[in-house]
Amino acid sequence: MIVSGPAVVWRRNASQGAVRSFDEAFAIVRADLAALAAGNPVFSAHLEMLDDTMLCDAVQEGISSGLAPLDALDAARDGIVAMFEGIDDEYLKARADDVRDVFGRLREAMAGEASGGVEQMPRGSILVAEELLPSDTTRLDFKSLGGILCHKGSSTSHVCIISRAKGVPIQVGVDISGISEGDTVQVDDPLAGCLQSIASRARASGLKVYVNAANLDEIRSGIEAGAEGVGIFRTEFLFLNRSSVPSREEHAAIYKEALLSCGGRPLALRTMDIGGDKQLPYLPVQAEDNPFLGLRGIRFSLLHTHIFIPQLEGALDAARSVRDIHPEWFEGGSPLHLIIPMVSCAVEILQVRDILGWLAPDYRSLLELGIMIETPAAVLDAPALAAESDFFSVGTNDLTQYIMAADRGEAAVAYLYDSFAPAVFKALQLTVAAAHDAKIPVGICGEMASDPRATGILIDLGFDSLSLSRLEPIQ
Ligand code: PEP
Ligand code: MG
Repeated sequence: MIVSGPAVVWRRNASQGAVRSFDEAFAIVRADLAALAAGNPVFSAHLEMLDDTMLCDAVQEGISSGLAPLDALDAARDGIVAMFEGIDDEYLKARADDVRDVFGRLREAMAGEASGGVEQMPRGSILVAEELLPSDTTRLDFKSLGGILCHKGSSTSHVCIISRAKGVPIQVGVDISGISEGDTVQVDDPLAGCLQSIASRARASGLKVYVNAANLDEIRSGIEAGAEGVGIFRTEFLFLNRSSVPSREEHAAIYKEALLSCGGRPLALRTMDIGGDKQLPYLPVQAEDNPFLGLRGIRFSLLHTHIFIPQLEGALDAARSVRDIHPEWFEGGSPLHLIIPMVSCAVEILQVRDILGWLAPDYRSLLELGIMIETPAAVLDAPALAAESDFFSVGTNDLTQYIMAADRGEAAVAYLYDSFAPAVFKALQLTVAAAHDAKIPVGICGEMASDPRATGILIDLGFDSLSLSRLEPIQ
């Protein structure tokens, strides 16, 4: 599908110097926070911090001493953060994260990256950007967007996944250097508009067709459009742009709603896949040389159990309360399927089973536990992992990057990042064979499932289900 429209250029890297004064940025952030603060104690606290004269004084002092405005802002942030972190009180110490959050907003507003930019674009505009991170996309108004052109990234970068889920065509790896604001530009997305025909073909071959989701709206619209369940609910997207760890109750409320929206169909809830290109603003960032090979997915969750355990508790609570309302949905097995991301050895599954067993001795009646097959280790040891899992879900986006040793977001190695490469094909064969030998189902939820060129191959390989990036009602 090719779409065209006027370019709105978002230049993150061009704004190393401030494009707005501190006072202008302050006014923008103040208005944003005042709107957000109504009914939200986190943002009211941020507003109070912003209004504290200490903040303005510290920035003005830096500017008067000759620092560039953005440097003065960073220096003020570091000073105030250090002050909070030095306090001998756990509660006040934790406020350092809120300080970072407020300064982050100010920085974005000064650098021209936040309000007044991509949130209010004329309908049909094409957003043109060097790079878009998952957290950036939460600010975009996808309803007005006609398409996205991005320099960095491959077709399975998170920005592509999110944008396809919203039905917005996207093209990555594009040289955007010659594009100016208002130029008429084209977006060529060969994968846009093919999903219904993939769904029909898969169903005709006896496969289940699920939908991918990152929020409740996507679950509801996918189910309304005929999905037989949710193949992956990427829960980290619910919690990327906030300033505190989500509570058990918050998890439970969302998952209960998600299960009810599925009406007894399977909901594959992937536990938070943090790390790689997805960081939580409320956790201090640990710099890593190779974030995609570092503390990601289940590795992160097992280390940060104060984030992981409330999520598991929330999932168990949601299953219990839905079972109270609809016991019949649990008769043939629970509709709640928990997926663990980024598994590389059986011990990780056993550790999750231990935690679940400790939280709820009857957890096996409340949920099924499966894993993402995303690493070469998981493929090579698939028979051992299958023995501990209730199902497999293949994440070809990561599997391709790890098998081909080619970063899924790096345009320079996009020629190697190929889900149709023979090595990836062999990995898929091994995975399906191991799952079926162990008599567990195996689905695919990576973007390959939504690629019309792959449908026949995936059917022939023997997958049991495809989870598509989006499903829309047939008009
Ligand atoms: C995958 O890796 O294919 C996958 C589904 O997970 P994500 O794209 O969120 O990393
Ligand atoms: Mg993945």
